[in-house]
Amino acid sequence: MKNLLGGKGANLAEMCKLGMPVPAGFTITTDTCVEFYKNNLQFPAELKKEVDEALLKAEAVMNMKFGDKEAPLLISCRSGARSSMPGMMETVLNIGLCADTIPGLIKKTGNPRFVYDAYRRLIMMYSDVVMEKSEGVEPEEGKGIRVQLDKMLHEVKVKKGYKSDTDLSEEDLKNLCDAFKGRVVEVLGKPFPDNAYEQLWGGISAVFKSWNGKRAISYRRIENIPDEWGTAVTVQAMVFGNMGDNSATGVAFSRNPATGENKFYGEWLVNAQGEDVVAGIRTPNPLNESTKNDQNKHLVSLETGMPVVYKELDNIQKGLEKHFRDMQDIEFTIQDGKLWMLQCRTGKRTGLAALNMAMDMLHENLIDEKTAVMRVAPVQLDELLHPILDPKSEQKASLVARGLPAGPGGAVGKIALTSEKAMEYNKLHIKNILVREETNPEDVEGMRAANGILTARGGMTSHAALVARGWGKCCIVGCEGIKINIAKGEVVIDGKTYKEGDVISLNGSKGWVYENAIKMIDATENPRFQEFMKIVDNHRTMGVRTNADTPEDAQNAINFGAQGIGLFRIEHMFYGKNSEAPLAKLRNMILANNTEERIIALNELEPYIREAAKGTLKVMDGKPLTFRLMDPPLHEFVPQTEEKQRELAKEKGMAFEEIKHRIDALHEVNPMMGLRGVRLGIVYPEITETQFRALFEATAELLKEGFHPQLEIMVPLTISVKELKHQKVICDKVHQEVEKKFGVKVDYLYGTMIEIPRATLVADEIAEVAEFFSFGTNDLTQMTFGFSRDDVNAIVNTYVSEKIIPADPFNTLDQHGVGQLVNLGIQLGRTSRPKLKVGVCGEHGGDPASIEFFYKAGMNYVSCSPFRVPVARLAAAQAAIKNAKCDCGCC
Ligand code: PEP
Ligand code: MG
Repeated sequence: MKNLLGGKGANLAEMCKLGMPVPAGFTITTDTCVEFYKNNLQFPAELKKEVDEALLKAEAVMNMKFGDKEAPLLISCRSGARSSMPGMMETVLNIGLCADTIPGLIKKTGNPRFVYDAYRRLIMMYSDVVMEKSEGVEPEEGKGIRVQLDKMLHEVKVKKGYKSDTDLSEEDLKNLCDAFKGRVVEVLGKPFPDNAYEQLWGGISAVFKSWNGKRAISYRRIENIPDEWGTAVTVQAMVFGNMGDNSATGVAFSRNPATGENKFYGEWLVNAQGEDVVAGIRTPNPLNESTKNDQNKHLVSLETGMPVVYKELDNIQKGLEKHFRDMQDIEFTIQDGKLWMLQCRTGKRTGLAALNMAMDMLHENLIDEKTAVMRVAPVQLDELLHPILDPKSEQKASLVARGLPAGPGGAVGKIALTSEKAMEYNKLHIKNILVREETNPEDVEGMRAANGILTARGGMTSHAALVARGWGKCCIVGCEGIKINIAKGEVVIDGKTYKEGDVISLNGSKGWVYENAIKMIDATENPRFQEFMKIVDNHRTMGVRTNADTPEDAQNAINFGAQGIGLFRIEHMFYGKNSEAPLAKLRNMILANNTEERIIALNELEPYIREAAKGTLKVMDGKPLTFRLMDPPLHEFVPQTEEKQRELAKEKGMAFEEIKHRIDALHEVNPMMGLRGVRLGIVYPEITETQFRALFEATAELLKEGFHPQLEIMVPLTISVKELKHQKVICDKVHQEVEKKFGVKVDYLYGTMIEIPRATLVADEIAEVAEFFSFGTNDLTQMTFGFSRDDVNAIVNTYVSEKIIPADPFNTLDQHGVGQLVNLGIQLGRTSRPKLKVGVCGEHGGDPASIEFFYKAGMNYVSCSPFRVPVARLAAAQAAIKNAKCDCGCC
């Protein structure tokens, strides 16, 4: 139902079925939106009749009539996509107020102030959403109609000395409505429509068009929501939280969305409409006594202020959680003491909350193990492993302000006062904190680019809080101690001025702001996390290994649950820590004049390879370790600048010209397609011989010391079985020699990477010799697309924004193209070796969407960087659960 009615429409229908108090209404489907776009922004012909009929039914339930002079029904038009896009699309409220209906509504409610308040809200919202945004009008910064009307409202408040919107009198509001209409004509060149039906169709059209609004598009890009889905429009009778002090509106969660604590949690405002809570215009009151915090402890809770309504709401939230078996995010309105449910949806939550809720609900028997596993998104695990402020350093730091803890973890960075600045910093890899007056959906890209978010206004359910939480980003809202002056590029915190670019630190779990940078540390081992991962592994069938080439990384990966090493890149010992000595030997080998010289250099290099292999094999004792023979082109290991070449010449006691000549001889026009991988071993067999010897000897030594090494040797960049056979002759010879020398039997597997399209096409032949395949999807993507993996970013960015490709194929496997080769390779490989072990060790091995594909392709394991291991474990378990066959035997 969600696909057709959007999340909002579907859940409203569900609440109706459960007998909950929902205002009458109907939903126009997402299909209609798709039609609307196909028809060049025209409504399908039959829509008008269907809307009229549905409206008649809603009128009958509410006992009012849309556009009627005596008992006018007001309605809202709300957006709702299949998957929640909080604040990214438009809503229009109070539709139906016009010269014909206003007197009747005043008579009916006996509350003219309320009617004019609703009318001024309608003019503000409608002129902004329908007349400006949906018409594609792009005003200059600060000149938009909404800003102008807000300013007019503010001026009246200042002139009259009012503190709050609720101080405005009937007369004030009436005059404002007239002034607003005048300004609308002036700015937008046409009058605000004084006809209920014109308003209704304007509203429906604007909601459809907001699917393609800038913020919605950016949000979809970030969240990978397809452009084709479209939004539904729910047209629903209005109920009012702004009818006086016996009316209210609020937003609530059936459990705490930041921590997962099992307490009904939320915010409400008396005499207000929903937008007031979400927009952060007024600081909202707490819902109940037990969830009050430092910022709102002086405010009246709903539990105390309206105990009967609170009880009813509490029962409803319990019922909803039981029904949906998940944490619900609820919007409600109290009109003149009567509770109405406006929305419920599965609530967004931080990674920590997702984990805690999944485990709590499992223990409460609300959900089963599989559901618990599905409840935490793999990317949320990243967040759990995310850094926090070092508590010791935090104790010593100076606290300058407190706000609401809206998004977890810590963040340290330079102050950015605009989204643009945050994006600019991000591009330069400068950590930054986006500091804003209030929450604004237009800031979505800046929020994404920021390392942390701090706002002066807004509550825990404000837009910034919702979005940041969804992303697991550190965020503090409602921090009233900060005053921002964008024009001056500064922010005053606790009386002290900070410039844009000054560094501050945030503790998003507490809501505390510090000046200067505080040290960050990784979140410590969380027992809940361990318990969850155990359950995850119960449901996982595909193995998870890691790409690691040092004992430290290997140990780290084991701690994260890695079951082996899927890729040990031998050449990594020539980069980074302790690489000088082996690199010097390698360079001797590269610069050798002839085979004898090369063998001498290789003999000196061999002990280094042996030691590197042995160290990591020891840590991985009993677990498989795949060593990949040296892969990169040799020129990568020799200096390219004249200065460095001169230094090398001096070091080697050789003439500069001679060194230069030998290095120049290594030059290739397309080195990625040149002398690398197995080709190195074919052209210089002594290079692979040395590596084989080092690996077998390391293994033999460990066997003699009582360890249980599980050696796997992998040949890179293979295109033909003949290459494998060629290298295997050398391998067999060395293997025999080592076994004889050490007097032990050395078991090992001999396999290959599959990373060139040709290899997938002849995989059946390759598998005759290869005992395992590991897909190198980095190179396979490079070679299939013909995209250079090292410098393709600009092209990929444009291709993604032009929708030529859906995503960066180096991050998420191109299932449509490269995926076919992977499937073919596995299929062919297993025709000649049915039990062929298959894995992947390209970057895609840590990407959840790709992992599901690898699972379906029948891989035995994925291999990824140590920090991604938990993410891969969860993604693999979820893939198994999602794609489980039923027990019926029919599928
Ligand atoms: C690959 O190509 O996917 C791979 C793992 O090898 P490398 O990244 O070392 O080329
Ligand atoms: Mg490769």
